[in-house]
Amino acid sequence: MIKGIGVSAGVGIGRILLVEEHSLEYTPHEVKDTEAEQARFNGAVETFCRNTEAQAEALKASAGAKEAEIMLGHISIVQDPYLIGEVEKKIAGGTCAEAAFEEMCDMFIQVFSASGDDMTMQRAADVRDVKAGVLGLLLGVSDVKLSDAPPSTILCAKELTPSMIAEIKKENIVGIITETGSTTSHSAILARVLEIPAVMSVPDIMSCAKNTQEAIVDGGDGCVILAPDDVQLGEYTRKRERLLEERRELEKYRGRPTQSADGTVYELVCNIGKPQDAAKALEFDGEGVGLFRTEFLFMDKTSVPTEEEQFTEYKKAAVILKGRPLIIRTLDIGGDKDIPYLGLAKEENPFMGFRAIRYCLKNRELFRTQLRAILRASAFGNVSIMFPLITCVDEVREGKALVEELKSELRAEGTQFDENIKVGIMTETAASGIIADLLAKECDFFSIGTNDLTGYTMAADRGNSDVSYLYSALQPSVLRMIRSIIRAGRECGIPVGMCGEAAADPMMIPLLISFGLTEFSVSAPSVLRVRKSISCWTKERADEVAEKVMSLSTQSEVRDYLKTVV
Ligand code: PEP
Ligand code: MG
Repeated sequence: MIKGIGVSAGVGIGRILLVEEHSLEYTPHEVKDTEAEQARFNGAVETFCRNTEAQAEALKASAGAKEAEIMLGHISIVQDPYLIGEVEKKIAGGTCAEAAFEEMCDMFIQVFSASGDDMTMQRAADVRDVKAGVLGLLLGVSDVKLSDAPPSTILCAKELTPSMIAEIKKENIVGIITETGSTTSHSAILARVLEIPAVMSVPDIMSCAKNTQEAIVDGGDGCVILAPDDVQLGEYTRKRERLLEERRELEKYRGRPTQSADGTVYELVCNIGKPQDAAKALEFDGEGVGLFRTEFLFMDKTSVPTEEEQFTEYKKAAVILKGRPLIIRTLDIGGDKDIPYLGLAKEENPFMGFRAIRYCLKNRELFRTQLRAILRASAFGNVSIMFPLITCVDEVREGKALVEELKSELRAEGTQFDENIKVGIMTETAASGIIADLLAKECDFFSIGTNDLTGYTMAADRGNSDVSYLYSALQPSVLRMIRSIIRAGRECGIPVGMCGEAAADPMMIPLLISFGLTEFSVSAPSVLRVRKSISCWTKERADEVAEKVMSLSTQSEVRDYLKTVV
Protein backbone atom coordinates (compact mmCIF):
# COMPACT_ATOMS: atom_id res chain seq x y z
CA MET A 1 0.00 0.00 0.00
CA ILE A 2 1.41 3.40 -0.99
CA LYS A 3 0.25 6.55 0.83
CA GLY A 4 -0.47 9.89 -0.81
CA ILE A 5 -2.98 12.70 -0.31
CA GLY A 6 -6.59 11.69 -0.88
CA VAL A 7 -8.15 14.57 -2.81
CA SER A 8 -11.35 13.05 -4.17
CA ALA A 9 -13.15 10.47 -2.06
CA GLY A 10 -14.29 7.08 -3.34
CA VAL A 11 -12.78 3.75 -4.29
CA GLY A 12 -11.67 2.94 -7.84
CA ILE A 13 -10.59 -0.51 -9.00
CA GLY A 14 -9.15 -0.83 -12.49
CA ARG A 15 -6.07 -1.01 -14.68
CA ILE A 16 -3.24 1.50 -14.81
CA LEU A 17 -2.68 3.76 -17.82
CA LEU A 18 0.64 5.57 -17.48
CA VAL A 19 0.41 9.05 -18.92
CA GLU A 20 3.98 9.60 -20.08
CA GLU A 21 5.07 13.09 -20.92
CA HIS A 22 6.25 13.55 -24.50
CA SER A 23 9.57 15.23 -25.07
CA LEU A 24 9.46 18.97 -25.57
CA GLU A 25 13.19 19.26 -26.10
CA TYR A 26 14.61 21.63 -28.70
CA THR A 27 17.83 23.46 -29.39
CA PRO A 28 17.47 27.18 -28.80
CA HIS A 29 18.67 29.07 -31.87
CA GLU A 30 18.98 32.59 -33.12
CA VAL A 31 16.43 33.74 -35.70
CA LYS A 32 17.13 36.12 -38.55
CA ASP A 33 13.60 36.58 -39.90
CA THR A 34 12.04 37.81 -36.68
CA GLU A 35 8.74 38.72 -38.37
CA ALA A 36 8.24 35.18 -39.63
CA GLU A 37 9.13 33.86 -36.17
CA GLN A 38 6.60 36.20 -34.58
CA ALA A 39 3.95 34.98 -37.04
CA ARG A 40 4.83 31.35 -36.18
CA PHE A 41 4.40 32.15 -32.49
CA ASN A 42 1.11 33.98 -33.08
CA GLY A 43 -0.16 30.98 -35.06
CA ALA A 44 0.71 28.58 -32.23
CA VAL A 45 -1.06 30.81 -29.69
CA GLU A 46 -4.15 31.04 -31.89
CA THR A 47 -4.28 27.26 -32.32
CA PHE A 48 -3.74 26.81 -28.59
CA CYS A 49 -6.68 29.12 -27.81
CA ARG A 50 -8.90 27.32 -30.35
CA ASN A 51 -8.01 23.88 -28.97
CA THR A 52 -8.48 25.05 -25.42
CA GLU A 53 -11.90 26.48 -26.21
CA ALA A 54 -12.88 23.13 -27.70
CA GLN A 55 -11.57 21.32 -24.61
CA ALA A 56 -13.52 23.75 -22.41
CA GLU A 57 -16.67 22.91 -24.37
CA ALA A 58 -16.04 19.20 -23.82
CA LEU A 59 -15.42 19.80 -20.14
CA LYS A 60 -18.60 21.83 -19.90
CA ALA A 61 -20.53 18.80 -21.08
CA SER A 62 -18.80 16.37 -18.71
CA ALA A 63 -18.25 18.51 -15.59
CA GLY A 64 -20.24 21.71 -15.96
CA ALA A 65 -19.80 25.32 -17.03
CA LYS A 66 -17.89 26.41 -13.95
CA GLU A 67 -15.23 23.78 -14.40
CA ALA A 68 -14.82 24.73 -18.05
CA GLU A 69 -13.70 28.12 -16.81
CA ILE A 70 -10.53 26.56 -15.45
CA MET A 71 -9.61 25.77 -19.06
CA LEU A 72 -10.63 29.22 -20.21
CA GLY A 73 -8.24 30.54 -17.54
CA HIS A 74 -5.44 29.02 -19.66
CA ILE A 75 -6.43 31.29 -22.51
CA SER A 76 -6.10 34.32 -20.21
CA ILE A 77 -2.61 33.15 -19.25
CA VAL A 78 -1.45 32.80 -22.85
CA GLN A 79 -3.01 36.15 -23.73
CA ASP A 80 -1.59 37.99 -20.71
CA PRO A 81 -0.40 41.32 -22.19
CA TYR A 82 2.78 41.38 -20.12
CA LEU A 83 3.75 37.83 -21.09
CA ILE A 84 2.96 38.39 -24.77
CA GLY A 85 4.78 41.75 -24.81
CA GLU A 86 7.93 40.26 -23.31
CA VAL A 87 7.90 37.30 -25.71
CA GLU A 88 7.54 39.73 -28.63
CA LYS A 89 10.54 41.69 -27.39
CA LYS A 90 12.64 38.55 -27.10
CA ILE A 91 11.67 37.38 -30.60
CA ALA A 92 12.41 40.84 -32.01
CA GLY A 93 15.86 40.49 -30.41
CA GLY A 94 16.48 37.22 -32.32
CA THR A 95 15.43 34.59 -29.75
CA CYS A 96 13.49 31.66 -31.22
CA ALA A 97 9.77 31.48 -30.29
CA GLU A 98 10.21 28.30 -28.20
CA ALA A 99 12.93 29.80 -26.02
CA ALA A 100 11.23 33.21 -25.76
CA PHE A 101 7.96 31.67 -24.59
CA GLU A 102 9.59 29.10 -22.31
CA GLU A 103 11.77 31.71 -20.56
CA MET A 104 8.75 33.86 -19.78
CA CYS A 105 6.66 30.92 -18.57
CA ASP A 106 9.54 29.71 -16.38
CA MET A 107 9.77 33.15 -14.83
CA PHE A 108 6.09 33.01 -13.84
CA ILE A 109 6.39 29.39 -12.68
CA GLN A 110 9.34 30.30 -10.46
CA VAL A 111 7.55 33.24 -8.83
CA PHE A 112 4.34 31.27 -8.24
CA SER A 113 6.13 28.14 -7.01
CA ALA A 114 8.19 30.09 -4.48
CA SER A 115 5.04 31.36 -2.75
CA GLY A 116 4.74 28.23 -0.60
CA ASP A 117 0.98 28.60 -0.79
CA ASP A 118 -1.19 25.90 -2.34
CA MET A 119 -3.40 28.16 -4.44
CA THR A 120 -0.57 30.28 -5.83
CA MET A 121 1.47 27.17 -6.52
CA GLN A 122 -1.52 25.91 -8.45
CA ARG A 123 -1.09 28.93 -10.78
CA ALA A 124 2.39 27.57 -11.47
CA ALA A 125 0.82 24.26 -12.54
CA ASP A 126 -1.53 26.14 -14.87
CA VAL A 127 1.35 28.05 -16.48
CA ARG A 128 3.26 24.74 -16.88
CA ASP A 129 0.20 23.29 -18.62
CA VAL A 130 0.02 26.28 -20.97
CA LYS A 131 3.77 26.13 -21.62
CA ALA A 132 3.60 22.45 -22.57
CA GLY A 133 0.60 23.09 -24.84
CA VAL A 134 2.15 25.98 -26.78
CA LEU A 135 5.61 24.37 -26.98
CA GLY A 136 3.99 21.16 -28.25
CA LEU A 137 2.37 23.16 -31.04
CA LEU A 138 5.57 25.04 -31.90
CA LEU A 139 7.51 21.76 -32.00
CA GLY A 140 4.79 19.85 -33.81
CA VAL A 141 4.53 17.25 -31.02
CA SER A 142 1.02 15.90 -30.64
CA ASP A 143 -0.78 15.88 -27.29
CA VAL A 144 -1.28 12.77 -25.16
CA LYS A 145 -4.68 11.31 -26.13
CA LEU A 146 -6.65 10.38 -23.07
CA SER A 147 -10.01 10.30 -24.80
CA ASP A 148 -9.23 6.74 -26.01
CA ALA A 149 -8.63 5.33 -22.54
CA PRO A 150 -10.63 2.09 -22.19
CA PRO A 151 -13.28 1.46 -19.48
CA SER A 152 -12.00 0.89 -15.90
CA THR A 153 -8.85 2.94 -16.44
CA ILE A 154 -6.82 4.37 -13.58
CA LEU A 155 -4.83 7.31 -14.90
CA CYS A 156 -1.36 7.53 -13.48
CA ALA A 157 0.76 10.60 -14.19
CA LYS A 158 3.52 12.73 -12.79
CA GLU A 159 1.17 15.69 -12.96
CA LEU A 160 -2.31 15.64 -14.42
CA THR A 161 -3.26 18.97 -15.87
CA PRO A 162 -6.81 20.33 -16.18
CA SER A 163 -6.48 20.13 -19.97
CA MET A 164 -5.76 16.39 -19.70
CA ILE A 165 -8.77 15.92 -17.45
CA ALA A 166 -10.87 17.88 -19.94
CA GLU A 167 -10.10 15.21 -22.54
CA ILE A 168 -11.13 12.14 -20.59
CA LYS A 169 -14.37 10.23 -20.91
CA LYS A 170 -15.64 10.34 -17.35
CA GLU A 171 -17.38 6.96 -17.57
CA ASN A 172 -14.11 5.20 -18.47
CA ILE A 173 -11.91 6.61 -15.71
CA VAL A 174 -12.27 5.01 -12.28
CA GLY A 175 -9.28 6.56 -10.55
CA ILE A 176 -6.48 9.09 -10.75
CA ILE A 177 -3.00 8.88 -9.22
CA THR A 178 -0.37 11.60 -9.53
CA GLU A 179 3.08 12.28 -8.12
CA THR A 180 2.37 15.98 -7.52
CA GLY A 181 -0.62 18.08 -6.45
CA SER A 182 -2.82 18.33 -3.40
CA THR A 183 -6.38 19.12 -2.33
CA THR A 184 -6.48 22.61 -3.81
CA SER A 185 -4.93 21.71 -7.23
CA HIS A 186 -7.29 22.49 -10.06
CA SER A 187 -7.10 18.90 -11.21
CA ALA A 188 -8.09 17.82 -7.69
CA ILE A 189 -11.08 20.16 -7.84
CA LEU A 190 -12.04 18.71 -11.22
CA ALA A 191 -11.63 15.14 -9.98
CA ARG A 192 -14.03 15.92 -7.13
CA VAL A 193 -16.58 17.49 -9.44
CA LEU A 194 -16.35 14.51 -11.80
CA GLU A 195 -16.55 12.26 -8.73
CA ILE A 196 -13.45 10.29 -9.74
CA PRO A 197 -11.49 8.88 -6.77
CA ALA A 198 -8.06 10.51 -6.76
CA VAL A 199 -4.86 10.33 -4.75
CA MET A 200 -2.11 12.89 -5.32
CA SER A 201 1.46 13.40 -4.17
CA VAL A 202 2.15 9.65 -4.37
CA PRO A 203 5.95 9.38 -4.38
CA ASP A 204 7.58 7.71 -7.43
CA ILE A 205 4.34 6.17 -8.65
CA MET A 206 5.46 6.54 -12.28
CA SER A 207 8.41 4.22 -11.68
CA CYS A 208 6.50 1.76 -9.45
CA ALA A 209 3.35 1.29 -11.58
CA LYS A 210 3.17 -0.55 -14.89
CA ASN A 211 0.78 -0.15 -17.78
CA THR A 212 -2.32 -2.40 -17.56
CA GLN A 213 -1.38 -3.47 -14.02
CA GLU A 214 -4.40 -3.90 -11.74
CA ALA A 215 -4.67 -1.30 -8.98
CA ILE A 216 -6.93 0.15 -6.29
CA VAL A 217 -7.27 3.88 -5.57
CA ASP A 218 -8.84 4.92 -2.26
CA GLY A 219 -9.34 8.69 -2.48
CA GLY A 220 -10.83 8.90 1.02
CA ASP A 221 -7.90 7.29 2.86
CA GLY A 222 -5.36 8.58 0.33
CA CYS A 223 -3.83 5.22 -0.55
CA VAL A 224 -2.99 3.20 -3.64
CA ILE A 225 -2.54 -0.56 -3.91
CA LEU A 226 -0.71 -1.93 -6.96
CA ALA A 227 -1.38 -5.55 -7.98
CA PRO A 228 -3.86 -6.20 -5.12
CA ASP A 229 -4.44 -9.77 -3.92
CA ASP A 230 -7.88 -11.39 -3.77
CA VAL A 231 -8.45 -10.44 -0.14
CA GLN A 232 -7.72 -6.77 -0.87
CA LEU A 233 -9.88 -6.85 -3.99
CA GLY A 234 -12.79 -8.27 -2.00
CA GLU A 235 -12.37 -5.76 0.81
CA TYR A 236 -12.22 -2.73 -1.50
CA THR A 237 -15.05 -3.94 -3.74
CA ARG A 238 -17.26 -4.03 -0.64
CA LYS A 239 -16.02 -0.62 0.44
CA ARG A 240 -16.77 0.81 -3.02
CA GLU A 241 -20.33 -0.55 -2.94
CA ARG A 242 -20.89 0.87 0.53
CA LEU A 243 -19.66 4.34 -0.51
CA LEU A 244 -21.79 4.35 -3.66
CA GLU A 245 -24.81 3.41 -1.62
CA GLU A 246 -24.09 6.20 0.87
CA ARG A 247 -23.82 8.74 -1.96
CA ARG A 248 -27.19 7.63 -3.38
CA GLU A 249 -28.68 7.87 0.11
CA LEU A 250 -27.49 11.46 0.53
CA GLU A 251 -29.51 12.55 -2.49
CA LYS A 252 -32.58 12.22 -0.24
CA TYR A 253 -31.40 15.38 1.51
CA ARG A 254 -31.31 17.51 -1.62
CA GLY A 255 -33.83 20.35 -1.62
CA ARG A 256 -34.72 19.83 2.03
CA PRO A 257 -34.32 22.41 4.78
CA THR A 258 -31.38 21.88 7.09
CA GLN A 259 -32.94 20.93 10.40
CA SER A 260 -32.23 18.88 13.47
CA ALA A 261 -34.34 15.86 14.47
CA ASP A 262 -36.43 18.15 16.71
CA GLY A 263 -37.03 20.73 14.00
CA THR A 264 -34.53 23.54 14.67
CA VAL A 265 -33.55 25.06 11.33
CA TYR A 266 -29.91 25.88 10.58
CA GLU A 267 -28.27 27.76 7.75
CA LEU A 268 -26.03 25.50 5.63
CA VAL A 269 -23.87 27.59 3.32
CA CYS A 270 -20.60 27.16 1.43
CA ASN A 271 -17.03 28.40 1.37
CA ILE A 272 -15.94 29.72 -2.01
CA GLY A 273 -12.81 31.25 -3.58
CA LYS A 274 -14.16 32.54 -6.90
CA PRO A 275 -17.51 34.11 -7.83
CA GLN A 276 -18.31 31.24 -10.18
CA ASP A 277 -18.02 28.84 -7.21
CA ALA A 278 -21.25 30.44 -5.97
CA ALA A 279 -23.02 28.50 -8.74
CA LYS A 280 -21.27 25.33 -7.63
CA ALA A 281 -22.48 26.02 -4.08
CA LEU A 282 -26.05 26.07 -5.41
CA GLU A 283 -25.49 22.96 -7.58
CA PHE A 284 -24.49 21.10 -4.42
CA ASP A 285 -27.61 22.49 -2.70
CA GLY A 286 -25.86 25.03 -0.48
CA GLU A 287 -28.10 27.80 0.84
CA GLY A 288 -25.69 30.63 0.12
CA VAL A 289 -22.10 31.53 0.85
CA GLY A 290 -20.72 31.86 4.38
CA LEU A 291 -17.16 32.65 3.33
CA PHE A 292 -15.90 34.14 0.08
CA ARG A 293 -12.09 34.04 0.34
CA THR A 294 -11.33 37.11 -1.79
CA GLU A 295 -7.56 36.65 -1.71
CA PHE A 296 -7.84 34.22 -4.64
CA LEU A 297 -9.03 37.08 -6.88
CA PHE A 298 -5.86 38.92 -5.96
CA MET A 299 -3.68 35.85 -6.52
CA ASP A 300 -4.92 35.44 -10.06
CA LYS A 301 -3.58 38.86 -11.07
CA THR A 302 -0.19 40.44 -11.56
CA SER A 303 -1.27 43.66 -9.79
CA VAL A 304 -3.98 44.72 -7.32
CA PRO A 305 -7.39 44.32 -9.00
CA THR A 306 -9.10 47.68 -9.53
CA GLU A 307 -12.35 48.69 -7.80
CA GLU A 308 -14.20 48.02 -11.05
CA GLU A 309 -12.67 44.55 -11.47
CA GLN A 310 -13.46 43.62 -7.88
CA PHE A 311 -16.96 45.07 -8.08
CA THR A 312 -17.65 42.95 -11.19
CA GLU A 313 -16.55 39.78 -9.39
CA TYR A 314 -18.43 40.42 -6.15
CA LYS A 315 -21.54 41.45 -8.06
CA LYS A 316 -21.30 38.25 -10.13
CA ALA A 317 -21.45 36.14 -6.95
CA ALA A 318 -24.29 38.26 -5.49
CA VAL A 319 -26.34 37.93 -8.68
CA ILE A 320 -25.79 34.14 -8.91
CA LEU A 321 -27.02 33.79 -5.32
CA LYS A 322 -30.22 35.76 -5.98
CA GLY A 323 -30.68 37.21 -2.48
CA ARG A 324 -29.20 34.26 -0.60
CA PRO A 325 -26.49 35.23 1.90
CA LEU A 326 -23.03 36.15 0.59
CA ILE A 327 -20.41 36.88 3.24
CA ILE A 328 -17.40 38.48 1.61
CA ARG A 329 -14.22 38.29 3.65
CA THR A 330 -11.81 41.17 3.13
CA LEU A 331 -8.31 40.37 1.96
CA ASP A 332 -6.69 37.71 4.15
CA ILE A 333 -3.08 37.57 3.01
CA GLY A 334 0.12 36.74 4.81
CA GLY A 335 0.71 33.63 6.89
CA ASP A 336 0.67 30.85 4.31
CA LYS A 337 -0.87 33.05 1.59
CA ASP A 338 1.53 35.27 -0.31
CA ILE A 339 0.74 37.59 -3.20
CA PRO A 340 4.09 38.21 -4.90
CA TYR A 341 3.26 41.66 -6.32
CA LEU A 342 2.31 43.09 -2.91
CA GLY A 343 5.96 42.70 -1.92
CA LEU A 344 5.27 41.47 1.62
CA ALA A 345 8.51 41.32 3.56
CA LYS A 346 9.75 37.88 4.60
CA GLU A 347 8.99 37.52 8.28
CA GLU A 348 10.47 35.33 11.00
CA ASN A 349 7.00 34.34 12.10
CA PRO A 350 4.52 35.06 9.31
CA PHE A 351 1.47 33.64 11.12
CA MET A 352 1.98 36.19 13.89
CA GLY A 353 3.00 38.91 11.50
CA PHE A 354 1.83 41.72 9.30
CA ARG A 355 -1.16 40.07 7.65
CA ALA A 356 -4.92 40.13 6.94
CA ILE A 357 -6.77 43.01 8.70
CA ARG A 358 -3.45 44.33 10.04
CA TYR A 359 -2.10 44.76 6.52
CA CYS A 360 -5.37 46.23 5.22
CA LEU A 361 -5.68 48.84 7.96
CA LYS A 362 -2.15 50.04 7.17
CA ASN A 363 -2.67 49.95 3.39
CA ARG A 364 -5.68 52.21 3.28
CA GLU A 365 -5.95 52.65 -0.48
CA LEU A 366 -6.05 48.92 -1.09
CA PHE A 367 -8.59 48.44 1.73
CA ARG A 368 -10.76 51.36 0.57
CA THR A 369 -10.81 49.96 -2.97
CA GLN A 370 -11.95 46.56 -1.77
CA LEU A 371 -14.57 47.90 0.65
CA ARG A 372 -16.00 50.27 -1.98
CA ALA A 373 -16.26 47.34 -4.41
CA ILE A 374 -18.04 45.19 -1.81
CA LEU A 375 -20.39 48.03 -0.83
CA ARG A 376 -21.32 48.64 -4.46
CA ALA A 377 -21.94 44.91 -4.98
CA SER A 378 -24.25 44.94 -1.93
CA ALA A 379 -26.86 46.71 -4.09
CA PHE A 380 -27.22 43.43 -6.04
CA GLY A 381 -27.86 40.87 -3.31
CA ASN A 382 -27.65 39.92 0.34
CA VAL A 383 -24.02 40.86 0.96
CA SER A 384 -22.16 41.08 4.29
CA ILE A 385 -18.61 42.18 5.06
CA MET A 386 -16.32 40.05 7.23
CA PHE A 387 -12.93 41.06 8.66
CA PRO A 388 -10.32 38.29 9.14
CA LEU A 389 -7.82 37.75 11.98
CA ILE A 390 -9.40 40.14 14.46
CA THR A 391 -7.54 40.26 17.80
CA CYS A 392 -8.86 43.44 19.45
CA VAL A 393 -11.80 45.84 19.47
CA ASP A 394 -9.76 48.68 17.91
CA GLU A 395 -9.40 46.73 14.66
CA VAL A 396 -13.16 46.26 14.40
CA ARG A 397 -13.86 49.89 15.18
CA GLU A 398 -11.29 51.11 12.68
CA GLY A 399 -12.60 48.80 9.96
CA LYS A 400 -16.19 49.80 10.63
CA ALA A 401 -15.32 53.51 10.69
CA LEU A 402 -13.81 53.11 7.24
CA VAL A 403 -16.96 51.32 6.03
CA GLU A 404 -19.05 54.25 7.34
CA GLU A 405 -16.76 56.78 5.66
CA LEU A 406 -17.07 54.96 2.34
CA LYS A 407 -20.84 54.71 2.71
CA SER A 408 -20.98 58.52 3.03
CA GLU A 409 -18.75 58.84 -0.02
CA LEU A 410 -21.00 56.55 -2.08
CA ARG A 411 -24.11 58.32 -0.83
CA ALA A 412 -22.67 61.68 -1.89
CA GLU A 413 -21.86 60.24 -5.33
CA GLY A 414 -25.37 58.82 -5.61
CA THR A 415 -23.97 55.28 -5.95
CA GLN A 416 -26.27 52.48 -4.79
CA PHE A 417 -25.39 50.15 -1.91
CA ASP A 418 -27.15 48.32 0.92
CA GLU A 419 -27.52 50.89 3.76
CA ASN A 420 -28.05 48.02 6.23
CA ILE A 421 -25.09 45.91 5.17
CA LYS A 422 -23.90 43.71 8.04
CA VAL A 423 -20.31 43.80 9.24
CA GLY A 424 -18.98 40.79 11.10
CA ILE A 425 -15.68 39.19 12.00
CA MET A 426 -13.87 35.89 11.82
CA THR A 427 -13.19 34.68 15.33
CA GLU A 428 -10.07 32.73 14.57
CA THR A 429 -7.45 33.97 17.04
CA ALA A 430 -7.07 33.06 20.69
CA ALA A 431 -7.45 36.76 21.56
CA SER A 432 -10.79 37.04 19.77
CA GLY A 433 -12.03 33.96 21.62
CA ILE A 434 -11.03 35.39 24.99
CA ILE A 435 -12.65 38.79 24.37
CA ALA A 436 -15.59 37.46 22.36
CA ASP A 437 -17.97 39.21 24.81
CA LEU A 438 -16.41 42.59 24.00
CA LEU A 439 -16.22 41.93 20.27
CA ALA A 440 -19.83 40.75 20.09
CA LYS A 441 -20.97 44.26 21.07
CA GLU A 442 -19.18 45.69 18.04
CA CYS A 443 -20.27 43.28 15.29
CA ASP A 444 -23.34 42.02 13.49
CA PHE A 445 -22.13 38.40 13.43
CA PHE A 446 -19.26 36.03 14.18
CA SER A 447 -17.91 33.27 11.99
CA ILE A 448 -15.56 30.88 13.76
CA GLY A 449 -12.50 30.06 11.69
CA THR A 450 -11.39 26.83 13.31
CA ASN A 451 -8.54 26.32 10.84
CA ASP A 452 -6.68 29.23 12.38
CA LEU A 453 -8.37 29.18 15.78
CA THR A 454 -6.98 25.67 16.34
CA GLY A 455 -3.49 26.80 15.32
CA TYR A 456 -3.48 29.94 17.45
CA THR A 457 -5.03 28.24 20.47
CA MET A 458 -2.68 25.27 20.39
CA ALA A 459 0.34 27.32 19.20
CA ALA A 460 0.71 24.74 16.42
CA ASP A 461 1.17 25.72 12.77
CA ARG A 462 -1.60 24.31 10.62
CA GLY A 463 0.90 23.12 7.99
CA ASN A 464 3.64 21.69 10.23
CA SER A 465 3.45 17.90 10.26
CA ASP A 466 5.72 17.65 13.34
CA VAL A 467 3.08 19.33 15.50
CA SER A 468 0.03 17.97 13.71
CA TYR A 469 -0.68 15.67 16.68
CA LEU A 470 -1.62 18.83 18.60
CA TYR A 471 -3.56 20.47 15.79
CA SER A 472 -7.16 19.35 16.29
CA ALA A 473 -10.39 21.23 16.86
CA LEU A 474 -11.33 18.41 19.26
CA GLN A 475 -8.65 19.52 21.74
CA PRO A 476 -10.40 20.47 25.02
CA SER A 477 -8.86 23.97 24.80
CA VAL A 478 -10.23 24.57 21.29
CA LEU A 479 -13.64 23.20 22.25
CA ARG A 480 -13.77 25.60 25.20
CA MET A 481 -12.79 28.43 22.94
CA ILE A 482 -15.56 27.54 20.47
CA ARG A 483 -18.14 27.19 23.23
CA SER A 484 -17.29 30.55 24.76
CA ILE A 485 -17.37 32.34 21.37
CA ILE A 486 -20.82 30.93 20.61
CA ARG A 487 -22.02 31.75 24.11
CA ALA A 488 -20.76 35.34 23.89
CA GLY A 489 -22.44 35.82 20.52
CA ARG A 490 -25.73 34.42 21.76
CA GLU A 491 -25.70 36.52 24.92
CA CYS A 492 -25.30 39.59 22.76
CA GLY A 493 -28.00 38.44 20.33
CA ILE A 494 -25.79 38.08 17.25
CA PRO A 495 -25.69 34.98 15.04
CA VAL A 496 -22.61 32.77 15.21
CA GLY A 497 -21.53 30.59 12.31
CA MET A 498 -18.50 28.45 11.59
CA CYS A 499 -16.55 28.45 8.33
CA GLY A 500 -13.50 26.43 9.38
CA GLU A 501 -13.21 22.81 8.23
CA ALA A 502 -14.50 21.60 11.61
CA ALA A 503 -18.03 22.72 10.62
CA ALA A 504 -18.24 19.66 8.35
CA ASP A 505 -16.85 17.17 10.87
CA PRO A 506 -19.62 14.74 11.90
CA MET A 507 -18.04 14.44 15.35
CA MET A 508 -18.21 18.19 15.86
CA ILE A 509 -21.83 18.60 14.78
CA PRO A 510 -23.60 17.52 18.02
CA LEU A 511 -21.27 19.81 19.98
CA LEU A 512 -22.02 22.78 17.73
CA ILE A 513 -25.76 22.12 17.98
CA SER A 514 -25.49 22.00 21.75
CA PHE A 515 -23.37 25.16 21.98
CA GLY A 516 -25.92 27.03 19.82
CA LEU A 517 -24.23 27.56 16.45
CA THR A 518 -26.71 28.83 13.84
CA GLU A 519 -24.79 28.63 10.56
CA PHE A 520 -22.51 25.94 9.08
CA SER A 521 -20.31 27.02 6.17
CA VAL A 522 -18.65 24.06 4.43
CA SER A 523 -17.13 23.08 1.08
CA ALA A 524 -19.82 22.51 -1.55
CA PRO A 525 -19.42 18.70 -1.86
CA SER A 526 -19.98 18.36 1.93
CA VAL A 527 -23.41 20.04 1.96
CA LEU A 528 -25.66 16.96 1.82
CA ARG A 529 -23.51 15.00 4.25
CA VAL A 530 -23.62 17.82 6.81
CA ARG A 531 -27.38 18.23 6.32
CA LYS A 532 -27.81 14.53 7.03
CA SER A 533 -25.58 14.72 10.13
CA ILE A 534 -27.55 17.66 11.53
CA SER A 535 -30.82 15.84 10.94
CA CYS A 536 -29.72 13.00 13.25
CA TRP A 537 -29.54 15.08 16.44
CA THR A 538 -32.07 16.46 18.89
CA LYS A 539 -30.94 19.30 21.13
CA GLU A 540 -31.47 17.10 24.17
CA ARG A 541 -29.21 14.32 22.91
CA ALA A 542 -26.62 16.80 21.60
CA ASP A 543 -26.53 18.41 25.06
CA GLU A 544 -25.89 15.03 26.71
CA VAL A 545 -23.02 14.35 24.32
CA ALA A 546 -21.57 17.84 24.77
CA GLU A 547 -21.76 17.60 28.55
CA LYS A 548 -19.83 14.36 28.49
CA VAL A 549 -17.27 15.69 26.00
CA MET A 550 -16.64 18.82 28.05
CA SER A 551 -15.86 16.65 31.08
CA LEU A 552 -13.06 14.83 29.22
CA SER A 553 -9.44 15.91 29.56
CA THR A 554 -7.65 14.95 26.35
CA GLN A 555 -8.21 15.05 22.63
CA SER A 556 -7.99 11.27 22.35
CA GLU A 557 -10.58 10.78 25.09
CA VAL A 558 -12.88 13.19 23.23
CA ARG A 559 -12.31 11.45 19.93
CA ASP A 560 -12.72 7.94 21.35
CA TYR A 561 -15.97 8.92 23.06
CA LEU A 562 -17.40 10.71 20.00
CA LYS A 563 -16.64 7.67 17.83
CA THR A 564 -19.04 5.68 20.00
CA VAL A 565 -21.94 8.09 19.51
CA VAL A 566 -21.58 9.41 15.93
C1 PEP B 1 -10.19 29.54 9.13
O1 PEP B 1 -9.14 30.01 9.55
O2 PEP B 1 -10.84 28.66 9.73
C2 PEP B 1 -10.75 29.96 7.83
C3 PEP B 1 -11.93 29.56 7.43
O3 PEP B 1 -10.01 30.77 7.04
P1 PEP B 1 -8.75 30.31 6.16
O4 PEP B 1 -8.79 28.79 6.09
O5 PEP B 1 -8.92 30.97 4.85
O6 PEP B 1 -7.60 30.83 6.95
MG1 MG C 1 -8.26 31.83 8.73
